[in-house]
Amino acid sequence: MSHSRRDFIRFVVAGSVASGCPVDTALIPVPDAESTNSKTSSAPQVEGEHFEICHQVRDGHHFDLPAATAKADIVIVGGGVAGLSAAYFLRGKDWLLLEKENHFGGNAYQEEFDGQPFATGSAYAYRGDEGDQLASEIGLKLPLVNMPDPTLVNKTYVPDTWKTGITQLPYPKEVVASFLKFREDVLKMKINPRMAELDALPFSKFTSAYAPEVGQWWDIFGPSNWGATTPDTSAYVGLYNANDLFTGGDGKRAILPGGLGCITHKLVEVLQPQYKDRMLGDATVVAAAPDNGAVAVTYIREGKLTTVSAKAVLMCTPKHITSRIVQDLPAEQRTAMRRTRFAPYPVVNLIFDKPVYNRAYDNWCPGNSFTDFIVADWTVRNDPAYKQKNNILSFYAPLREEFRSTLLDEADCKTLAARVLSDFQKVLPEFNVDPIEVRIYRRGHPMFMSTPGQYTKNRIAAAHPMDRIYFGGNDSGGPESLTSEAVRLSQVGAEWANLILAGKPGAKELALKALAPVAD
Ligand SMILES: Cc1cc2nc3c(=O)[nH]c(=O)nc-3n(C[C@H](O)[C@H](O)[C@H](O)COP(=O)(O)OP(=O)(O)OC[C@H]3O[C@@H](n4cnc5c(N)ncnc54)[C@H](O)[C@@H]3O)c2cc1C
Repeated sequence: MSHSRRDFIRFVVAGSVASGCPVDTALIPVPDAESTNSKTSSAPQVEGEHFEICHQVRDGHHFDLPAATAKADIVIVGGGVAGLSAAYFLRGKDWLLLEKENHFGGNAYQEEFDGQPFATGSAYAYRGDEGDQLASEIGLKLPLVNMPDPTLVNKTYVPDTWKTGITQLPYPKEVVASFLKFREDVLKMKINPRMAELDALPFSKFTSAYAPEVGQWWDIFGPSNWGATTPDTSAYVGLYNANDLFTGGDGKRAILPGGLGCITHKLVEVLQPQYKDRMLGDATVVAAAPDNGAVAVTYIREGKLTTVSAKAVLMCTPKHITSRIVQDLPAEQRTAMRRTRFAPYPVVNLIFDKPVYNRAYDNWCPGNSFTDFIVADWTVRNDPAYKQKNNILSFYAPLREEFRSTLLDEADCKTLAARVLSDFQKVLPEFNVDPIEVRIYRRGHPMFMSTPGQYTKNRIAAAHPMDRIYFGGNDSGGPESLTSEAVRLSQVGAEWANLILAGKPGAKELALKALAPVAD
């Protein structure tokens, strides 16, 4: 696309990359001569901007943690779906929720265009999973997607890729035969009984025996769903997902426009009227320090450091951040948290003022700057009461880790979004249409990668509970980054907190039990 044509389209860059810029131990004052000398220069120079705090930390600023001036029975750190659902499960209790951004939702956050919601991250739930159950409890009914996914490749639309579609794939005969053989071989495998063994191996060990196009397909499906290409994917995760697709597991997908942001949006609507004062946005937690049978949680808000003393803390932040906030972590646990790898993951939304594509929900497009795209209002499109005003398509464009810094620069983000648009316009001839707006939502570390060993080993070492600190969030679960796992672990976290507050035994055992790997 020429520059002049691109200039007519509005490009909007949104979203924080600060979650990829963690609070460091430099925040924690060391009571030695060096830190005492630096006291005068250590007054927080925070502009109230999340980037600023992170950058100051990275640049080695030291903050003095003040003594506690407030108390709460439970502090919940992080207001993504894990933190919000924990708050929901703890309704009526004395909790305080602290969120770094000026909005709640984390990776499950919806935005709107002209009143039409669309996803900036998390896409769909499965009928009956913990996310779906919570949705219906708070009054949302998630309709089924009700259609298997096509693949759009070599200018061809192939419906139902892995069932009736395989033989229609526009590849040479031997490549199609290799797709068929891959499916046949996976369907014959006993995957669940071999969970531990397979989780230690890379998925590429299996895919490399087939035509490169088979690996190429999984090298878009993997990054979109679990942040990693086949060499970096646990074979267990790759194979059970393949098996699930081949046996119709995708028939259970359910969602509303807004993706899983519809759940966080509704949770905020449900909680805020009663708990507004307990839900603080723009509040970046910099330390959670065990302190004489309590935990001192310090956060920065409007340039001011405040410490709250809590009886129990639920950490609902990604582990790479958690490892830098929580004090007195056993060394091995800190290492396990930092070993968790995260994919940089922008999502681009193309907004068309006329129908361009309404043919299938999730569309796989090998060989492009994006992996797949979804139709935002797919599940409501046929409702008699609904009329599509704009055709909003959400493009998933996970990056390799080495390209994370692309997201720090607005111009680079616009270039990336423009590449998504120009790639899309070439997928099928009828896609050569200009949108009225292009939005890119960037996130630096949103999705933990399902690398070999993450599910059965590293995750468990990383999420071991402390006496008064529970480690929740999606990356305490798995085998992939799932909203349902974030919700499940918050349910357990709420029970854990209740036991701690009541001084009853069994909290640690409860938390550990919830970490046990489960064969799907
Ligand atoms: C592009 C994309 C697509 C996805 N698609 C799906 C899908 O289709 N289905 C599905 O089930 N899952 C999907 N996922 C995964 C899903 O989004 C996550 O598993 C889920 O949203 C994670 O919720 P969470 O609360 O555990 O973590 P997060 O959403 O990461 O929330 C953590 C929160 O903590 C805040 N925070 C960070 N540091 C601090 C601090 N120092 N102080 C205070 N707050 C802090 C962050 O701002 C954030 O709001 C997708 C993820 C991405 C990125």
